[in-house]
Amino acid sequence: MSDELLGLTAAEQAARIDAGELSAAEAFEYWRGRAAADELGAYLWVADDTPEDAGTLPPIAVKDLFCVRGVPSMAGSRILEGYRPPYTATGVRNLEDAGVRVLGKTNQDEFAMGSSNENSGFGPVQNPWDRTRVPGGSSGGSAAAVAAGTAPWAIGTDTGGSIRQPASLCGIVGMKPTYGAVSRYGMIAFASSLDQCGPLTRDVTDAAILLGHLQGRDPCDSTSLGIPDGVPLPTAERLDGLRFGIWGMEEPGLEPGVAEQVNATLARIEELGGSVEPIELPTAGHGIAAYYVIAPAEASANLARYDGVRYGPRAAGNGDLTSLYEQTRHDGFGEEVRRRIMIGTYALSSGYYEAYYGTAQKVRTRIAQDFAAAFGEVDFVVSPTSATVAFKLGERTADPLAMYLSDYYTVPMPLAGIPAISIPCGLSEGLPVGFQIAGPAFSEARILDAAHALEKSIAFGGVPVT
Ligand code: GLN
Repeated sequence: MSDELLGLTAAEQAARIDAGELSAAEAFEYWRGRAAADELGAYLWVADDTPEDAGTLPPIAVKDLFCVRGVPSMAGSRILEGYRPPYTATGVRNLEDAGVRVLGKTNQDEFAMGSSNENSGFGPVQNPWDRTRVPGGSSGGSAAAVAAGTAPWAIGTDTGGSIRQPASLCGIVGMKPTYGAVSRYGMIAFASSLDQCGPLTRDVTDAAILLGHLQGRDPCDSTSLGIPDGVPLPTAERLDGLRFGIWGMEEPGLEPGVAEQVNATLARIEELGGSVEPIELPTAGHGIAAYYVIAPAEASANLARYDGVRYGPRAAGNGDLTSLYEQTRHDGFGEEVRRRIMIGTYALSSGYYEAYYGTAQKVRTRIAQDFAAAFGEVDFVVSPTSATVAFKLGERTADPLAMYLSDYYTVPMPLAGIPAISIPCGLSEGLPVGFQIAGPAFSEARILDAAHALEKSIAFGGVPVT
């Protein structure tokens, strides 16, 4: 198979398969070879061979935390090493039903906790634009694989930014849908009231196609609804009459090079007929503080199940049950996961619950109200996706707070349950900058249309395929 496929989006490859110019098996085999030759640490598992029924669409790279029947599914954690689930996550099953096959499982921060992919139990991932830099996290493997051309498209999960931030740092498109758009069944849980599955792709059209297949109400997830009107393919080339509220340009940590590209994108919005006005989200600045109480609180409950009895490796301990639990959890969890379990357990403990968890939930409600008020004035809230371009491996590992601030722009949306996309909008210091567009719940089709119009105008030109 020629490297011609590398230059094509997944939709373009699908069209060739459809026209009989390429078989799905050939496409799978080609991408399997690319994935197997990955040098960035993006994959934790690659399919051994081409499935007998290779489907009808290009294959997909799946973040490790999605359960796939018979395939290692470890959420990037040593505590699940060797775990092969007996069932497949609904999102992945929906893709399989649509004719997509699983190419491999991608590296990630352990249990999706991180912004750099350095918290993986299986080693970090390198950014294909500069291998001394992080790809972002926690869906860093999925983002790096798409950017480096070792996967035609990928899925990840976003709890506080883990699709949009790595998409931004790797120069690709990433979308977090409305909470409930995609079933969480079979996604190894981090923070259940925030976790959402979504696409990481080369362009907006591919993101719309994947989301259209992923979404849907699922009887196995009572919080799932699907996207009531489905996901039509985006076609817009103009933004006439649309109002964009820009948020967060005064933040001290915003790199000038990032601000420059975001401002250039705002100018494009106006050229395309849209209007831009500053918008206040008075509580959004407290998003990180609220998130880092709520997410660890939920994680501390979700991760209680890893005790060496139900899943994965079991440490011997001293021969009694308590020490078996303790030793297994000590050996299996990485430092960041242990930190979150401690923060979460503390925040939920009697006497502190109201002060921390209760207060954080109130902040969460206020953030949702901020967005609701903003959407009374504008159609979309836009911002940088990340205050900085991809940072150096190791640069923020010693300072958890600096790492947590990586998600300043992405955390408010999952707290409010609303959808947002990141699209590449230019380069700063030779590295990609992401532009974020958020809209009201279930406005995915409108967000994708606006992103499509902007994408055509920006003509980012792509990925550092090597
Ligand atoms: N970086 C954030 C965290 O560490 C968000 C992660 C995510 O969205 N899964 O929790």
